[in-house]
Amino acid sequence: MSPLAVWSAPLSARRVFVVLLVLLMAVAAQVSDAGAVSGPREAGAAATPDRARYDVALRSDADGSHWSGRQRVSFRNASDRPLREVYLRLWGNGADGCGTPAAPAAVRVSHVRGGTPNRPAVNCTALRIALPKPLARGARTSLAFDVSITVPDRNARFGREGAFRFLGNALPVLAVRDAKGWHLDPYVALGESFYALTSDFRVRLDHPSALKVPATGRTRTLPGGPGRSVTLSLADRVRDFAWAAGPFRTATQTTPGGVRVRSYWAPGTPAEGVRLNRTDAVAAIDRFGREFGRYPYGEIDLVMTSGFGGGMEYPGLVLLGTTEEGSAVVHEVAHQWWYGIVGNDEYSSPWLDESFAQYANARFHGWDTRDCWSDVYWPDDESALIGSMAYWSRHPGEYHLVYTAGPCALADLERTLGADTMARLLKGYVRDHWYGVSSTAAFKKAAQSVTDQDLGPFWETHRIR
Ligand SMILES: [Zn+2]
Repeated sequence: MSPLAVWSAPLSARRVFVVLLVLLMAVAAQVSDAGAVSGPREAGAAATPDRARYDVALRSDADGSHWSGRQRVSFRNASDRPLREVYLRLWGNGADGCGTPAAPAAVRVSHVRGGTPNRPAVNCTALRIALPKPLARGARTSLAFDVSITVPDRNARFGREGAFRFLGNALPVLAVRDAKGWHLDPYVALGESFYALTSDFRVRLDHPSALKVPATGRTRTLPGGPGRSVTLSLADRVRDFAWAAGPFRTATQTTPGGVRVRSYWAPGTPAEGVRLNRTDAVAAIDRFGREFGRYPYGEIDLVMTSGFGGGMEYPGLVLLGTTEEGSAVVHEVAHQWWYGIVGNDEYSSPWLDESFAQYANARFHGWDTRDCWSDVYWPDDESALIGSMAYWSRHPGEYHLVYTAGPCALADLERTLGADTMARLLKGYVRDHWYGVSSTAAFKKAAQSVTDQDLGPFWETHRIR
C-alpha cells in the first residue's frame, strides 16, 4: 500500500514526510480500535491450513456492484496438531462491519457445506467453521459455500470510483494458524492486516461484456450468455485474489523478460500518467526480477484511475491512483516480491513488506539516501521500526516511519555491508522464503550470515529490535 503518489518524483525526504503526515492524519480517523485478537497459543506448530485451492464462480449484476456465486476451498493440515476448525477472513467487512438489516454486510457467506459455521466475529471479518471431525496432519478436506459481495460506496481498495469497481480483499480467504495460534487480527484502513499462505485459485467471473475485468492470475475472456462474457483466471501460489470491473481502456505489453503487463485505465486518467506507469512497470518488473528472482506469475495488471488514493498491491494486480506525474507503480510492483513472493504477517510486521518495497522503489528511482537517517525523528524510546499494526494504529501519525525510516535503514544496511553483499543478501533471502513466510528474526539472521561484522549495534540504532 502507499498513501497517494509521492513516489515517482525525486522529492526531498522532508516533503515526503510532510505529505505522508498529512495523509496519515486524514486516514487516522478511519482506523478502528485495533487491539490484537489472539487465538489459543501453541508451540512450534507449522503454519496451516496450507496448499489451499480455491474454486470460485461468481456472476455480477449490470455494473459490477454485486457479485454472487459459489466458492469451494480445499486445504491440507500441515501441522502436527489436528485441525478442528478453520476461519474464513471476510476482510471486505472491515470498513463497515456487520451491517444493518437495511444495509447488510458487504461480504456474506451462507449454505456452508463441509463444516458448521459460527456467527461472524471480529467485526464480521472472521467466520469460524468447525470441521465435522479433526483433520490429521497431511490430510485434506474441503468446504463449499455461497458468497455474496456488494461493493461499498467509497473510493477504496474495496470500493468504487464512478463506473469502476475495485474488489480488493473482497473474496473470503482462509486465516492462518501457526505457533502463535490463529491469526484473527482486526482490519485496519491505515495499512494491511492480511496474512495468508500461498494458494491456487481457479476463478470464473461472469459479467456484462461492456465491463472489462482485470484480475489476479493469467486471465482470458470468453463469450458468455447473451450480452455477457466470462473471464477465467488461473493463479497458482498467490496469497490473495483481487479483481476490478468497469469500462476500462486497455493495452498490453510484454517486458523484455517475458512478463505480460496489461494496462487498464479509466478514460479520465491523465494520458501522460498512464504512459509513465506502463513504462515504469515494464522496467521495474524485469529489474526486480534480476535483483530478487524472476517474477513467477507471467502477468501483471495495472488498474489506473485518477481518483484512487495512493496505490494498493495484490498478487498480479495493482490499483494505482494516477496523476499526470504517474503513480506509486514501482512501489506496488516491488510488493509482488515483498509481501507476494516473500510473505509476511502484514499485521505483526508491516515493515517487512512496506519498508522493503519502498527501499526497492528508492533504488529504482535513484534517490539520494545518504544522510537520510538524520531526517528521521522518533517520538519516544519505545517506538520501533518493527512495530505491529496494533502499535501504528494507536500512533497513526508515526506510521510514515515504515515508509521513510524503513527504506533509509535498509539503505544504511547496504552502505554497511557494501552494495554487492546487500544484493547477495536480498537474493538469497528471497530464495530462502520463496512462496513462504518470513519474519524480522529471519531477516536479521540472514543479514548477519553474510558479514563478520556484529550487526547488533546496527539493529539497535535503526530500531530493528
Ligand atoms: Zn506499500
